[in-house]
Amino acid sequence: IIRQRIQDFFSTPPEGQKVEVLGWVRSVRESKQVAFLHLSDGSTTAPLQVVVDKTREELASCLETLRTGASVRVVGTLRPSPGTKQPVEIHAEALTVLGPAPEDYPLQKKRHSFEFLREIAHLRPRTNTIGAVMRVRNTLAWEIHRFFQERGFLYVHTPIITTGDAEGAGALFRVTTLPPDAPYDPTEDFFGAPAFLTVSGQLEAEAYALAFVNVYTFGPTFRAENSHTPRHLAEFWMVEPEMAFCDLEGDMHLAEEFITHLLEAVLERHPEEMAFFEQWIAPGLTDQLEAVVNTPFTHMTYTEVIEHLKKAPASFTFPPEWGMDLQTEHERYLTEELVKGPVIVTDYPKEIKAFYMKQNPDGRTVRAMDVLVPRLGEIIGGSQREDDYERLLARMQELGMRIEAYQWYLDLRRYGGAPHAGFGLGFDRLVQYVTGMQNIRDVIPFPRTPGNAAF
Ligand code: ATP
Ligand code: MG
Ligand code: MG
Ligand code: MG
Repeated sequence: IIRQRIQDFFSTPPEGQKVEVLGWVRSVRESKQVAFLHLSDGSTTAPLQVVVDKTREELASCLETLRTGASVRVVGTLRPSPGTKQPVEIHAEALTVLGPAPEDYPLQKKRHSFEFLREIAHLRPRTNTIGAVMRVRNTLAWEIHRFFQERGFLYVHTPIITTGDAEGAGALFRVTTLPPDAPYDPTEDFFGAPAFLTVSGQLEAEAYALAFVNVYTFGPTFRAENSHTPRHLAEFWMVEPEMAFCDLEGDMHLAEEFITHLLEAVLERHPEEMAFFEQWIAPGLTDQLEAVVNTPFTHMTYTEVIEHLKKAPASFTFPPEWGMDLQTEHERYLTEELVKGPVIVTDYPKEIKAFYMKQNPDGRTVRAMDVLVPRLGEIIGGSQREDDYERLLARMQELGMRIEAYQWYLDLRRYGGAPHAGFGLGFDRLVQYVTGMQNIRDVIPFPRTPGNAAF
C-alpha cells in the first residue's frame, strides 16, 4: 500500500528498484512532455505522485483513457519528489488503466461540502477526510477490543431483535415478518409476537456479567428518534461494558481509563491523520486531546451542576431547574467554559433516568453517571444497577412496565444477584470527538437518519 511504500522508501530507499503500485487517480496534471498523477489507495492522506513520460508512446496512449477517478496499476521506480506537495514520486515504466472513470466522476479535484459528500456516501470514502476518519475509526474499534481483552472481559454478542425498551424512551423500531409490499398487520410482527430492534445491549449484558463477572458488548443499536442534531443517528454503534461486584466508583474509574487509553492510542498511531484534522477540521485538536489524557476528569453531582448553571454568566434557552434533563447548551457550558475538559456528572434525579438504576438513600436521585466532553456533551451514560429485587420491582410497577416481559431480568436479582455497574459509550460520538468532525453523519460509513435509509 502507498503508506507503506512511502515509509519503506525513507527507511531503506529502494532507489532504482522497481515497484508496483495500485490505486485511484486523484488528479491529472499535464504538460507537453510529462503528466503528473496523484494516486491514492486509502492508506494515507499523502498523495503519491506518478511521473509519466509522455514521449514514450505506450505511456502516452494510456493517458488518453486515464482520468480522475480511474483505478490504475503503475510499475516504476521510486524517487524523492522535488515537489513540495508529496514526499515521494514514482517514475512510471508501465501504466495500466484497470477501471476507467468518465468525465462525470463526482469527485473532481476540489473541496466538496460534507452535505454533497453525504449524497455520494458510496464514493466519499475516496476523499482524504473520510479516509482519515475511517482509519481512526478502525483503530478505535480495534483498541476497544484490546482494552477489554487485556483486562479479561468476555466479549458477548447481545441480540439485535428484542422485546423490551431498555431505556424507556419509547424510540423503538418495530420488527415485522411481512413482505415489503404487504399492508401493516400487527399479528405479523416477529412471527406473531411484538419485537423491536435493540436500543441497548445492557440488559442482556447484565445476565452475562452475573455469570462471567466482566463482560462487554459492542454492536449496532437503533433508536427511532426523530432527531436532526449533529450527534444523533437512528442506527449507531455502542460499547457497553458491564461488571459484577462493581459499584459506581469502579464504573467511573473504568470509563476514565477507557477514554484515556483510546485517545492515547489514536494520538500515538495517527500523527498524520491528527495533523490533517488539525489543519482542515479542528484547529487545536491535538493539544485538546493531549490535555484530556494528562488531566484527571472533573467530578460533580447533578445537584452541584444545577447550582453552577444557575450562577453562570451565560444565558440559556432552557433555564436550569433541578429535575430537568441537562440540555446540550448546559453540557457545553460545563465542559467548554466552566471546566474546559471532560466532566463526570453523577446522581441524577431518578425521574429523568432509566428504571434499572440504583436508587440513592435520598429517594430522589439514582447512582447514574454521564461523561460529558467539550464540543459534544454526553458521550457516555452509565450507572450502578438496582440489585435489590423488591425495589426494582416497585420501580417498574410505578412506571407501569409490563412485568411479564422482564421476568427474566428480575430473576437476575432473585438468583444470586450482586452489585453491578456498567456504561454505554456511543462509538460514533467517540469517533466524532477524536477527529473533531462536526457532524456524526460524517464519521459512519452509511449514516441512517430520519428519511435516509439508502444513501
Ligand atoms: P442523548 O442525551 O445524547 O440523546 P442518551 O442519554 O439518550 O443520549 P443513552 O441511552 O445514555 O443516550 O446511550 C448511551 C450513549 O450512546 C450516549 O451517551 C451517546 O454517546 C450514545 N447515543 C445515544 N443516542 C445516540 C444516537 N441517537 N446516535 C448516536 N449516539 C447515541
Ligand atoms: Mg437520547
Ligand atoms: Mg442523555
Ligand atoms: Mg444517557
